[in-house]
Amino acid sequence: MSDLLSDARRAWVTEAITRVEADANRSADTHLVPFPLPGAWGVDLYLKDESSHPTGSLKHRLARSLFLYGLCNGWIGPDTTVVEASSGSTAVSESYFARMLGLPFVAVVPATTSQEKLELIRFQGGRCHLVEDAGSCVSEAYRLAAELGGHFMDQFTYAERATDWRGNNNIAEAIYQQMAMERHPVPQWIVVGAGTGGTSATIGRFIRYRRHATRLCVVDPENSAFYPSWRSGDPNVHTAKPSRIEGIGRQRVERSFEPHVVDRMELVPDAASIAAAHAASEVLGRRVGGSTGTSLWGAFGIIAEMLAQGRTGSVVTLLADGGERYRHTYYSPEWLAAQELDLEPFGNTVDRFLKTGEWAPPAMP
Ligand SMILES: *Cc1c(COP(=O)(O)O)cnc(C)c1O
Repeated sequence: MSDLLSDARRAWVTEAITRVEADANRSADTHLVPFPLPGAWGVDLYLKDESSHPTGSLKHRLARSLFLYGLCNGWIGPDTTVVEASSGSTAVSESYFARMLGLPFVAVVPATTSQEKLELIRFQGGRCHLVEDAGSCVSEAYRLAAELGGHFMDQFTYAERATDWRGNNNIAEAIYQQMAMERHPVPQWIVVGAGTGGTSATIGRFIRYRRHATRLCVVDPENSAFYPSWRSGDPNVHTAKPSRIEGIGRQRVERSFEPHVVDRMELVPDAASIAAAHAASEVLGRRVGGSTGTSLWGAFGIIAEMLAQGRTGSVVTLLADGGERYRHTYYSPEWLAAQELDLEPFGNTVDRFLKTGEWAPPAMP
């Protein structure tokens, strides 16, 4: 590159980083919302409401981190087409940042991705490249990036390292700051799902770095490789089918998933995730996404244990995205019937828990 060209490129990168930082500076952090439980229980539950980001999910944080990482590494310049393999939400958030920088963006998404999400990607200015086999999104993204002379963001590899785990306003630091004035400011448990694994890696590392007593629980849906791999220690687990809970559960153990910072994992049936999402939507007066249901199911089970042991404290989990994105799936009776999902026994479990604190889930098949 000539000096003139490299000066121009450097000036562009400087301006690009300014824009991303200015966007963050204009934004407030997301709310930490109390989930109402009987006060006499002595156990408090909170949801970090990641749906309130400008692009509607916790992937807003990841997209910002991945863009900054790519810019500071010299991987993204003024002529770069940005490519991502994504089940939807990451692509929505990355489209937002690509447009902010005037860069073309292509999302390689499974053909099964909800229409709502495809529309959101296009609304943010991204292009969608649909693939039939969800398992080939990554190889197709590599191919497309090479063909276009672009950059493949590769969220499943870089999520854990693009985020500043020691602080810099990451999600963990924000949670502890927002808990400071609560009656149990240091959570007993933080419960999250894993898609890239980036969120659990950031929170797990931060807990250790700050020497908090908090334990980290990762909830995992059916057909995900994370849970069996964590149990067995085998990093090469593959599953036959993709997860039905969008955003979490992967067919292989992604590189961004850090198993050693996870204190506990719980396998959550899909019908339980969706039943908990429905119940939470009633309680909160607004619809939440499927992975929020998975997280709440895990949190409810842990809170019931604490109650049975006579312990008090707090539990924090995530409202990772809202339910508007899933009108034609988790909130559609037709879709639920077609998937042969019977929510009723799981809904009854949640109702009984919210009334009595007792946890009696149906036997796993
Ligand atoms: C990505 C995602 C998660 C999991 O977050 P990771 O940091 O990728 O593990 C959970 N819920 C939703 C809705 C997501 O989009």
